[in-house]
Amino acid sequence: MKLLIIALLALAGLGFFLFHAAEAALQFEEDVFATSAGELKITFVGHGTLIFSFNGKVLHIDPYSKVADYSLLPKADGVLITHEHQDHLDKAALEHILTPETDIVLNAKSAEILGRGRVLRNGESAQLLGITVEAVPAYNIVHKRDTGQPFHPKGEHNGYILVFGDTRIYVAGDTENTPEMKALEDIDVAFLPMNLPFTMTPEMVADAALAFRPKVLYPYHMGQMDEERPAKLAELLKGSGIDLRIRKMGR
Ligand code: ZN
Ligand code: ZN
Repeated sequence: MKLLIIALLALAGLGFFLFHAAEAALQFEEDVFATSAGELKITFVGHGTLIFSFNGKVLHIDPYSKVADYSLLPKADGVLITHEHQDHLDKAALEHILTPETDIVLNAKSAEILGRGRVLRNGESAQLLGITVEAVPAYNIVHKRDTGQPFHPKGEHNGYILVFGDTRIYVAGDTENTPEMKALEDIDVAFLPMNLPFTMTPEMVADAALAFRPKVLYPYHMGQMDEERPAKLAELLKGSGIDLRIRKMGR
């Protein structure tokens, strides 16, 4: 009898733990920025995936079903897609959050695959949910496939600058430290990918950040999270005045 009670108590404890583990999985890290166009909340979903909430609107960026259960996340007023790789253009995530009214901005290849959305080419800009969005080139210079083809060929993929009143936020997409990136100006918050072999080493992220000097830098799309690369980046940016913030943006 005593054993049975202990077993039941253990089971109840396990159930309680699992319930809370599931709940915790939905609680992503968030940061809030005060902009002249109102408050902007950034939710760090993981991988290359973010949610921007502002003025009662929800903007999903590269929603990816491997890092969240999208059936539990808010519907999209807008979606931004950087490029067509499956961890950025993911129909399994989109089917849960798209409505007929969702305004989608994306690169040409993604629009072809998805069959909807407004295409932005490198250098073009558009209005999305009342903010300006500018497409910035995203491509590889050094890192290539065995075939010699870059993982992200120049001219096809986008990063985006999102302008919230006086605050400019750069979500780089899958890219290296290109001359176009290094020439960016007035970036308040930057998301730079740090995932090998597809994007940047900590040295490449630091090289870019020291060139265009965002006030706040989030490395994102980091693949397997480790302590080494964020620590290396922190060392490289020491004394730069750049506010380096590490969030759980791995897989
Ligand atoms: Zn990619
Ligand atoms: Zn990627």
